[in-house]
Amino acid sequence: MEFTAQEKYEFKRMLDNLRSKVGRGTELISLYIPHDKQISDVMAQLREENGQAANIKSRVTRLNVQSALDSAMSRVRLINKVPENGVVIFIGSIDIGSNKTDMYTLALEPPDPITTYKYHCDSSFLLAPLEEMLADKKTFGLIVLDRREATIGLLKGKQIVPMKHMTSTVPGKQRKGGQSSHRFQQLRLIAIHDFYKRIGDSATEAFLPIDQKDFEGIIIGGPSPTKEEFVEGEFLHHELQKKILDALDISYTDESGLHELVEAAQDRLIDLELTQDKLVMRRFLRELVSDNGLAAYGEKEVRHNLELGSVDTLLLSEDLRKTRAKIVCTNKSCDFAENQTRTSSSQPVGNCFKCGSSLSITDEEDIVSDLSKLADASGSAVKIISTDSEEGAQLYQAFGGIAAILRYKTSHL
Ligand code: ZN
Repeated sequence: MEFTAQEKYEFKRMLDNLRSKVGRGTELISLYIPHDKQISDVMAQLREENGQAANIKSRVTRLNVQSALDSAMSRVRLINKVPENGVVIFIGSIDIGSNKTDMYTLALEPPDPITTYKYHCDSSFLLAPLEEMLADKKTFGLIVLDRREATIGLLKGKQIVPMKHMTSTVPGKQRKGGQSSHRFQQLRLIAIHDFYKRIGDSATEAFLPIDQKDFEGIIIGGPSPTKEEFVEGEFLHHELQKKILDALDISYTDESGLHELVEAAQDRLIDLELTQDKLVMRRFLRELVSDNGLAAYGEKEVRHNLELGSVDTLLLSEDLRKTRAKIVCTNKSCDFAENQTRTSSSQPVGNCFKCGSSLSITDEEDIVSDLSKLADASGSAVKIISTDSEEGAQLYQAFGGIAAILRYKTSHL
């Protein structure tokens, strides 16, 4: 599945949250149930595990494991139809400090289908299958070639998939006796041209059917001047020719050449992920320094502009860890209520400044979600920016992680 920026952010945060949960012993259960798995089989295994748990020596761990299994069974029993992508259940006694534990349960349908059933019991939850779903699924086309051999493949996320291997009939540089030198050179050039054409046709056949919105571009590898000749000769379909990102020097042109090429292009690939972030941040910085620039930053200014509907693009740092909460007075005869931004959900709320009674929180959500919703309401684009680039770090450090490019100039608050 393709995530929107906000979905990806929320999924990441959920994984961070699950990662922070630890049990005291091996008492946290992770269950990955694929769509086609029989619920009765899952129940049978959980009952079996429950029987086995009776042998656990530590009394505390035994009780915790058994109560986690009991909860897991009652949760699984509620499933009458496994969703399309399967279901993941996390259950167990979480250490909440000061010698206390708390039973934690979370069931979710993952964004991609679960392929293998997993029952996992450990002191932390098993998250790798979900982390893989979050991993980059961008696809790159790979072509490695010299005049004698070529290999075409794909880079999908981190996986290299070879697709086609080809060899040429281009004769070596030494001509046989009796052939005129001129004629020989001419035939050789024709053979080279034919080989490039075959490579181009095969690559077009391999790359063109790929959904072009997931297809990031093509990287070509080989010795000079072969790769340059191939690029300049425009042997690819014109749609694909536009997508050539780079031509790099490598020495192998068989399957190992694909690996060599990805290695060589590593910086370029990492850069591409950051490019979008960098470009939008540079646009913001340009607006910021120009007279009558269309830039706003800081939560107050940006929120004000979002409410006016004047935000073109909202920029939020992925490292923001604040929440937005609705605070009300617990005293029924007092009408005090306000929205507050909190540095964390554990920050104390204090007392009502009107009547001195204690305050309570009625609603609280991540500030990225809160501001994204406001942006959605006025059709503003939302970019959630990682701090991996210099520009992204600047958004977090210099602008409090919240900035906007505006549609039109508004007055400051
Ligand atoms: Zn009050």
